Amino acid sequence: EGASPLLAVRGLEAWYGESHVLHGVTLDVHEGEVVTLLGRNGAGKTTTLRSIMGLVPKRSGSVHYAGRELIGARSDAIARAGIAYCPEERGIFASLDVTENLMLPPVVRPGGLPLETIYELFPNLKERARSQGTKLSGGEQQMLAIARILRTGAKLLLLDEPSEGLAPVIVQQIGRTIRELKQRGFTVLLVEQNFRFAQTVADRHYVMEHGKVVDMVRNEDLNASMDRLHEYLGV
Ligand code: ATP
Repeated sequence: EGASPLLAVRGLEAWYGESHVLHGVTLDVHEGEVVTLLGRNGAGKTTTLRSIMGLVPKRSGSVHYAGRELIGARSDAIARAGIAYCPEERGIFASLDVTENLMLPPVVRPGGLPLETIYELFPNLKERARSQGTKLSGGEQQMLAIARILRTGAKLLLLDEPSEGLAPVIVQQIGRTIRELKQRGFTVLLVEQNFRFAQTVADRHYVMEHGKVVDMVRNEDLNASMDRLHEYLGV
């Protein structure tokens, strides 16, 4: 690839207290790409997203985004630089309805999608606009969690296991949503355990083991690389 990557992570290390969790993660994400982080439980995928977002207590190395070094920046500054993080636990407010949940994040930079555009992208959320968070299905909650970060004006979306715990038909819907976001010019880095799903959305895949990236596979080469991946992922 000739153009410089939108996100370049180099030698990223992270600690939780005394526990050294990332041991030099290196990866690139180009503008408009959808890239997955694959790997077993505990490989460090979530910590990688949290470290990019400035949400771990201690980190070092380099996180270069859109021409800026973000390794020393606070998470609010990282959000203003154009990155948003959607955690696995989704963080939907149970007592608020869908519209109220969508109104919560401040538009931190120009380009945050207005509510009407959000509802165009997520017609099923529009139907549920007045429903309380508690009344939503798992799939609707996941959609809402993704929709909400689009309000911030972020261009790079970090999604932690969006397919987790959802029925196959809902996983397909999430897949369509991610492909649509790519078409709209968003860049996505997502953690996945389900590599059948990863294959339907991503351009490339990084494999993590023991806090490092140990392999990279282009989506078109995924089937040919299955044996290797099975070894890494233990599936
Ligand atoms: P999973 O899918 O299980 O979340 P993962 O690949 O995302 O796996 P991480 O969640 O990043 O892995 O965890 C990497 C390592 O860091 C694990 O050994 C985990 O126990 C440890 N870890 C994660 N969060 C914390 C924390 N808040 N405090 C201490 N250790 C943590």
